[in-house]
Amino acid sequence: MPRDTSPLAALPSVDRLLGHQAAEVLVQASGRTAVTDAVRRALTAVREELLAGGTPEITESGLLDRVAGELRVRAQPSLRPVFNLTGTVLHTNLGRAQLPPEAIEAMSAAARAPTNIEFDLGTGKRGDRDEHLEAALCRLTGAEAATVVTNNAAAVLLVLNTLALRKEVPTSRGELIEIGGSFRMPDIMQRSGCRLREVGTTNRVHLADFADAIGPKTGLVMKVHTSNYEVVGFTAGVPEQELSALCRDRGVPFVVDLGSGTLVDLERYGLPHEPTPADALANGADVVTFSGDKLLGGPQAGIIVGRADLIKAIRRNPLKRALRVDKLTTAALGAVLDLYADPDRLGERLPVIRLLSRPAQDIHALAERLLPAMRSAVHGVASADVIECDSQVGSGALPTRTIKSAGLAVRPVASRGKGKILQRISAAFRALPMPVIGRIQDDAFLLDCRCLEDESAFEAQLKGLAACWNETS
Ligand SMILES: *Cc1c(COP(=O)(O)O)cnc(C)c1O
Repeated sequence: MPRDTSPLAALPSVDRLLGHQAAEVLVQASGRTAVTDAVRRALTAVREELLAGGTPEITESGLLDRVAGELRVRAQPSLRPVFNLTGTVLHTNLGRAQLPPEAIEAMSAAARAPTNIEFDLGTGKRGDRDEHLEAALCRLTGAEAATVVTNNAAAVLLVLNTLALRKEVPTSRGELIEIGGSFRMPDIMQRSGCRLREVGTTNRVHLADFADAIGPKTGLVMKVHTSNYEVVGFTAGVPEQELSALCRDRGVPFVVDLGSGTLVDLERYGLPHEPTPADALANGADVVTFSGDKLLGGPQAGIIVGRADLIKAIRRNPLKRALRVDKLTTAALGAVLDLYADPDRLGERLPVIRLLSRPAQDIHALAERLLPAMRSAVHGVASADVIECDSQVGSGALPTRTIKSAGLAVRPVASRGKGKILQRISAAFRALPMPVIGRIQDDAFLLDCRCLEDESAFEAQLKGLAACWNETS
């Protein structure tokens, strides 16, 4: 084949494309290096497509459109806001609690300028970062002292490593939890340098079992809130008051890992009761650990509250330096704790409580309002209906309790290949400018509307879906 008639030979050079006026616009936006690289990649890809017998667009403007498209995709940050319509309010993979505006403002103020994170403005000397949070945490839990680390897994690790290094930790066999992301209590104990001593059986444990297990080698006794499951049926546990009295008697610390530590009585907002750190301390716990971004509704953090002497030892552990929180977390957590000073308004101001206590009939009305737009967005591919559904708290809190909710069910119209179509529908929603995350259940793509607050932004981007169906069908 003579060289000049090959479409390969007709491809413009990198320099020629870069000299094009449209390329100059791209350079203004993305920089010369990025555009040059994108042009090279586009030419390579087109060359390969031609060699494989394809018929890609090879005009200069066509190639530059391709370059612009690629630059747009690359410009998107990896970490992006999404709509969480999974029905799991505190979804670990979707970042758990949304922060209130007060916390976001506090974080941005702390990010913009130097702060007194470890500086005492009174004396002009070095300060302690825990001081910004300790008073509020003590006030809200009744603890003598408090310290904060990166997450609750770190809090458990640090407490165990400080108080029970090379010692035994009696723990009920029924509480040896695994939560998502490879947090297994036995593994954490081992990595903390402790020896787990399993007490009782999976379903039953008695005070006498603990009395037998505690001895000279005991570092502390651990109680773990079985946050993501419940043992039901023929069961027996030891009430915190009895276990703490036994520990006091034997002179070993009693530590409670609460997991999701709400700081208020959730019944106040019409939600099921969840034990609070204040309850655990009142029942005699010496140290309590809990997460900052579960029911508390703040940033990712692990909070340790309890006896002043024990917290002091925990703070002195060199590992604390490795697990300390930064100024942004400190700022956000401080602002969230401030909101707890006014529990009457918490239901409006703290997103986690606002979303969890949102009445089902309000969510139903929202779903009804969205229905026409949804129907036209999936027209020809699927039907859409308003449905009743159940939300859950997530992140292990209140595992067996669901909350009545409402949403939209998108069901493929075709009777064959439903599974594949559902996958395509769910992928199309994830590909929207602000990705929409739902769940596939009972042959439908379900969108639980409990966590949908920005209704107009959601509705506005639905129009983009129609194009999606034409592209791939
Ligand atoms: C969630 C949880 C943890 C881990 O907390 P993170 O903040 O995710 O590190 C530990 N223990 C219990 C009981 C939990 O529920």
